[in-house]
Amino acid sequence: MYDACMKDCIFCRIVKGELPSKKVLETENVVSFYDINPSADTHILIVPKKHIGTFMDITNKHKNLTSEMLGMARSIIKQEKLQNKFRVSFNGGKLQIVPHLHMHVLGGELKKNYDK
Ligand code: AMP
Ligand code: ZN
Repeated sequence: MYDACMKDCIFCRIVKGELPSKKVLETENVVSFYDINPSADTHILIVPKKHIGTFMDITNKHKNLTSEMLGMARSIIKQEKLQNKFRVSFNGGKLQIVPHLHMHVLGGELKKNYDK
């Protein structure tokens, strides 16, 4: 069941190149791509290449990974010139739809129906 979950995980499939995405930045352990259904003028997702389920699955052994994700968020904010208006967030529990850890980088105007 664990394997089946990884095989079917859409973000694992994006990482492997089995599903298309519009890539933004990539480092050794992390990749970012545009959200398919943006909740703001700019909406980018940052994901670890190796499957981690949720924010609550992060442990101390992920210190380097999480700082790589935060560093990528800052690089994206600079690159996309979002410094004046941005939000970096994780969803969890019932607010998390895709069960592969991801950080949202939102910039500019939020969409009216944005509730995350
Ligand atoms: P959440 O799990 O609620 O934190 O959000 C998942 C996000 O993934 C949503 O904003 C979706 O629009 C986005 N999403 C779902 N499938 C794809 C995909 N194939 N490519 C890019 N973004 C996606
Ligand atoms: Zn995954």
